[in-house]
Amino acid sequence: MERTLVLCKPDAVQRGLVGQILTRFEQKGLKLVGMKLRQFPKELLEQHYSDHKERPFFPSLVGFMGSGPVVAMALEGIDAIAVVRGLMGKTNAREAAPGTIRGDLGMSFSNNLVHGSDSAESAAKELALFFPGADEL
Ligand code: ATP
Ligand code: MG
Repeated sequence: MERTLVLCKPDAVQRGLVGQILTRFEQKGLKLVGMKLRQFPKELLEQHYSDHKERPFFPSLVGFMGSGPVVAMALEGIDAIAVVRGLMGKTNAREAAPGTIRGDLGMSFSNNLVHGSDSAESAAKELALFFPGADEL
């Protein structure tokens, strides 16, 4: 069994798509084991995306992620990390395949509705960042 971090980004919350997005993960068979709605501080978002800190889009990415409330979820299942990535679709929502979350619901490269951890190492780091309490997960 594996756990992964999913974020419904500010565009998903603002557009009222959180329920639909969570439903897709639940219908697939992933188990929701943690969830919170919060406008997260810049410092936490910078740590979350620290792998991208040298990229030109880093300031706008962190700015966007801090622009409104985000829903952070911990999902559990066999191969949960890869399964979630598959359900999300390609980063650029315009190129994401129909049937994926980004492919069905989005048109933007940057405001692309969801985040999912991309490896076991990043899942461990990100779950600890968004659910730091000993009793949270
Ligand atoms: P996420 O990490 O948010 O789940 P991802 O793993 O599909 O998305 P990454 O390569 O990790 O994509 O990039 C993180 C986020 O940074 C993307 O979701 C997107 O919002 C933004 N981003 C990535 N590449 C670019 C780019 N070339 N120009 C603008 N924004 C970008
Ligand atoms: Mg990523």
